[in-house]
Amino acid sequence: MTPTLTAPAPAGAAPSPARALPLLTVPASAIPTSPAADVRRPVLFTGAPEACWLGRYRFPMLVSRNRLVRLKRKFPLAITPWILDSGGFTHLRMNGRWIVSAEQYADEVLKWQETIGGLVAAAPQDWMCEPDVLRLTGKTIREHQELTVANFLRLRELAPTIPWMPVLQGWTLGSYSTHLEMYAKAGVDLHLERRVGVGSICRRQNSVTIAVLLDILAQAGLRNLHGFGVKIRGLELSGDRLFSVDSAAWSYHASRENIRLPECDHAAADCRACPRYAEHWHTDLIERALVTWPEEHHPAHLN
Ligand SMILES: [Zn+2]
Repeated sequence: MTPTLTAPAPAGAAPSPARALPLLTVPASAIPTSPAADVRRPVLFTGAPEACWLGRYRFPMLVSRNRLVRLKRKFPLAITPWILDSGGFTHLRMNGRWIVSAEQYADEVLKWQETIGGLVAAAPQDWMCEPDVLRLTGKTIREHQELTVANFLRLRELAPTIPWMPVLQGWTLGSYSTHLEMYAKAGVDLHLERRVGVGSICRRQNSVTIAVLLDILAQAGLRNLHGFGVKIRGLELSGDRLFSVDSAAWSYHASRENIRLPECDHAAADCRACPRYAEHWHTDLIERALVTWPEEHHPAHLN
């Protein structure tokens, strides 16, 4: 039987039109079609709006704590690798500080690791450094960075079996380097971590600034970077600097362009929360050689 990457399509559904979709907003000519074999491509973790997707679809995902805490009894059994996002941006904007303790968060993540499985990285309760978040918390970039390191150390102490992902925060280019030094002073060598998140980049509009930042971090020897919310342009410019990325751009795109796949039978008018469309997006980026599969989850390995 041919392995399927998604839940079986409903009876009578049309064949997948993935290749025909106008998914990307940049001209195809701007995208390298045959990158050199040695060009590194990041693994894409698609932002999933529902935790239950983890048990139904095989493309790697990022799921927010904000979604997982809604699950009370019925937990999915993950059939795909996934990253847990702490939902820090929303949390800090709503509360002006973290009102969930490290102890509570560690307990939650331990429970999800045990019941759901497949967790490859968990973001700490980090403190973003966007100017509007700083205004809300009333703290400085340095204070946000110190709190981020302290939380990472505490979580690792509370739950050492969880693959916690340290996150670099900052705003100016220099402030990221400062944060790198803070981790080193706290005894954390980021070069040795499986993944290091680069925070406060997904709401930046200037992909060139992000590219310069990722160059600086690459020159510092970090080959394990995870880019939160990296855009298509960012993948073109800096994909080879990244080990993995996550993106929910597919949902914004479906919403903005009012896209509804012809074979979809969901009640929603567009595909902004549609796993079929999310998978098409994922497949499209892989076919365009902008991202790749995690090695151990490449479809060839699922045969
Ligand atoms: Zn749909």
